[in-house]
Amino acid sequence: MHEFSLAQGLVSQLLALADQHNALKICTVRVAIGSQAGIVADSFAFGFDVLSRENGLLKDAVLEIIETHPQHRCLDCGGIMPFTLTKPSCSQCGSQRLASVGGDDLILSQIEME
Ligand SMILES: [Zn+2]
Repeated sequence: MHEFSLAQGLVSQLLALADQHNALKICTVRVAIGSQAGIVADSFAFGFDVLSRENGLLKDAVLEIIETHPQHRCLDCGGIMPFTLTKPSCSQCGSQRLASVGGDDLILSQIEME
């Protein structure tokens, strides 16, 4: 299961961070999941829940998931604008040479520990 291995990766990242900061427990973990990343947030949360329960540092951790969306970047003027599925054009220079950026990854955006 794809989400489970991602959750495992997050857990090892968190344990390494807690170790670096001599934390006794991790309280809140916020991750951003791109809407185009092909990750099912519920499955990811379930995997995290199963893994964190087994670990003293993580057993009370609250996982918050934020969904992020891709944006369009204009190849002509560099402008950034919201991603649209209809034929897009740059709101600044009118160019139709746009590239989609972001919205396809999983990022650990914030962690609170004690
Ligand atoms: Zn432009």
